Formats: sequence, C-alpha cells, structure tokens
Amino acid sequence: MSNISKNKDFSSHLWDSSELYRDAVTQLESATKTMNLDPNLTERLRVPKRAMIVTVPVRMDDGSVKCFEGFRVQHNITLGPAKGGIRFHHDVNLSEVAGLAMLMSFKCSLVGLPLGGGKGGIRVDATQLSRAEHQALIRRYTMEIINIIGPEKDIPAPDVGTNAQTMAWMMDTYSMAKGYPVPGVVTGKPVDVGGSLGRAESTGRGVVYTTEHAMKYLEKKGKSKLKMDSSTTVAVQGFGNVGSIAAYDYWQKGMKVVAVSDVSGGIYNKNGLDIGKVMEYLALNRVLAGFPGSEPITNADLLELNVDVLTPAAMEGAITSKNVKNIKAKIIAEGANGPVSPEAMNELEDCGVFIIPDVLCNAGGVIVSYFEWVQGLQQFFWSEEEVNQKLADVLESAFNKVVALKEQYKCGMKTAALISAVDRMSKAMLLRGLFP
Ligand code: GLU
Repeated sequence: MSNISKNKDFSSHLWDSSELYRDAVTQLESATKTMNLDPNLTERLRVPKRAMIVTVPVRMDDGSVKCFEGFRVQHNITLGPAKGGIRFHHDVNLSEVAGLAMLMSFKCSLVGLPLGGGKGGIRVDATQLSRAEHQALIRRYTMEIINIIGPEKDIPAPDVGTNAQTMAWMMDTYSMAKGYPVPGVVTGKPVDVGGSLGRAESTGRGVVYTTEHAMKYLEKKGKSKLKMDSSTTVAVQGFGNVGSIAAYDYWQKGMKVVAVSDVSGGIYNKNGLDIGKVMEYLALNRVLAGFPGSEPITNADLLELNVDVLTPAAMEGAITSKNVKNIKAKIIAEGANGPVSPEAMNELEDCGVFIIPDVLCNAGGVIVSYFEWVQGLQQFFWSEEEVNQKLADVLESAFNKVVALKEQYKCGMKTAALISAVDRMSKAMLLRGLFP
C-alpha cells in the first residue's frame, strides 16, 4: 500500500468530513495525476499544515453568554504567509475551512502572489447577530487566534458573512494587543483605516474580467461568438460581496442580466434587469423580492435558466450531479468557492460548457488584498485606476497560463488551473526541502 492510500484512511478522520474538502482533494489529485507529480509532494498538499480550534464566548444583547466554535486553518505557507478570509456561517466546520484553505493556497499560487493559503470560520448565523454581538464575536476570536496571525504569518480578510467593518475591528483588536497600529494584519479594511481603493469591488470585477477573456478565447477558437453586449444573457446567483458587483459590472458593460438572487430567492425579467435600480431597491428594502417589473424565481430555477453566462456566486455545491443535466449556460463563471462539484464539472466540460474555475474566476479579491497588504506595509497608497490596471494584468496573464495548460494537457480548466498552482508550489517546496 502506498503512503498516500495509507494516510488517506488516517486523515479522513480529521479532515475529510465535508464535501468541499473531499472535492478539493479530488481536484488536486486529478491535477497531480495529469501532470505526473511526485506522489511525495501530493502527499503533503492534500492535508493542511496546521489548524487552530477555539471557543469564542460572547455576551449576547439579552445578557446571556453563548459559546461559538471558531477555526483558523493554514494549508500551506511555502510561498509566503497564509492568506484567506474569515467566514461567518451556521454550517462552518473544521473540514470545510480546511478545504477552503487549500483552495486559497492554489488561488494565491496560480496568480503568482508571494502568499500561502489559509481560511477561518465561526459557526454562527451572521444575519442573527446585532452589530454589538458581531463586534464582540470578532474581537474575542481575534484574541483567541492572535498567536498564529500577523502581517508576516497569516493575514485574514472578509468572506461570506463578514465585511470591511469586521476587518476594522480585527485590525483594531490586534493593534491594541501590540500597542501600535498594524494595518498589514488584515485586508479588506475600510479605505479610511488603510484599506485599498478597489478592494471591495475586486472579486466581482475579476469575475467579469475573466468572463470577458473566456468570450475572447472561445471566439478565437471558433467555438462561440458571445460578446459583452446586449445579445448575451447572464444570470447571477448570490447578491453579496461578489455577486452584486459582478451583476453590476456585467450590466455596465451592456450585457442583459436576466436574473439575480440572494438567500431569500431571486428576481427575473427576460428583457433584462436594471442592476443600478436593483441595487437602490435592495438598499431601501433589504431584499430583492418585489423589485418592480420582475417575476420571482427560486435559486434552483435561476441556475437552470437558458442563459449564455451563469455566475454562481453564493455558496459551494450549487451545481452537482443532481441538477447538472438541466444546466443550459455556455459559460459558467465560478464566483463562489466550489459552486460546481467535480463530477458536475466533468459532465459540463464533456458537453462543451466553458468553466472559469473559482481559483481563477474569483481571485480578484485576494489579488487586491495582496495590493492592500503591500500598500499597508509601505504606507504608500495607489489610485483606483492603478489598482484596477494591475488587477486586470494579473488576471489576464493567469487566464492565458491556464488556457495554455488546458491545451497542452487536453484537460479541463480547473485541472489546468491546479496544475499551474501546484507546479509553482511544488518547485518552491522542493527547493526549500523537507525539514529536518
Ligand atoms: N475570501 C476571499 C476568497 O475566498 C478573499 C480572501 C483574501 O482576500 O484574503 O478568495
């Protein structure tokens, strides 16, 4: 029995309990097999380097004390400090955070950042927390994990259920403990406390940039004539940090956005929605439902619409073997992390659907996080045009690298993206060697 299969039995008890982690390992193994990687390197990449599990007690507004489960996982730090968001979600667990940390390692490596991969999470429904409870929760969590984070160690950022204000509180807590301001400890901060211009929009913006590259690539290959104009229809699942900006930018570029949704459901108009007005409506009403001139649509039906571009930007597991047969889009841009399962991805790619994998499609967020970290360390800030131009350049070269590998290995886009990521990481691992 090889080391890998022996350890598979062992590690399954600790890490493998979530679909997301198992999917990440399946995709890693498919890439390492295709590129014929030394199995000793695969052995190290399929498990995280370290994890911290903490209890986070919080006094709630009603005076009671509640204990929440908190996690921070660092998957790989060979290329640099760990980097990745903090997720507040009622389903978060160690295995899911470990899988997301692994995806962050691949994402940072793919786009050439000097960073490793990490992720954090607290098992809580963020929508049920008051502002004071949210603040108490993130401050206590920061203190609980303070020994493993820092600008040279591990740099958190927002993710599902957290935002720029959450990062401001994290930065403040860390800085209070150190006795001086430390902007480089987190990214995704508000601009007024050292955040970067363009960071809040960067993930959604990157989704749209990579969609544009996909269209140009397919046209060059004579596979489709889709353009960023009103002849192209798009549906976006999820209207948070990522989905709302992606929908807005698609609409700004002239595409017909026929449906968008949030957790409570979606809105549809076959002639296209005015996303500027949808945003104004949401700011006033807090839900998309009831937007004038739209019909209601469920999240499940939105995914199955007959559109050219589909952007699942909500949570993992949106498209699986259960609904894959009903998916009609020609391009799928993975705005969320892991929205298409490996089996569904194979099936879609076999049918000629072009998939822009998460590690490329939503990498805009961590790319501008890296710019924010660099600006914070230097105390020298760039204009939004500079940020956007650098973001566009990094994504264009990553996209070109991935399609070149896809053609070289005759494999899917996700496998090609992981080959590129793993190749860079494994070269660094070999050069640094195995300690002791
Ligand atoms: N949470 C985002 C992601 O999944 C951003 C992470 C970061 O900026 O560090 O990529």
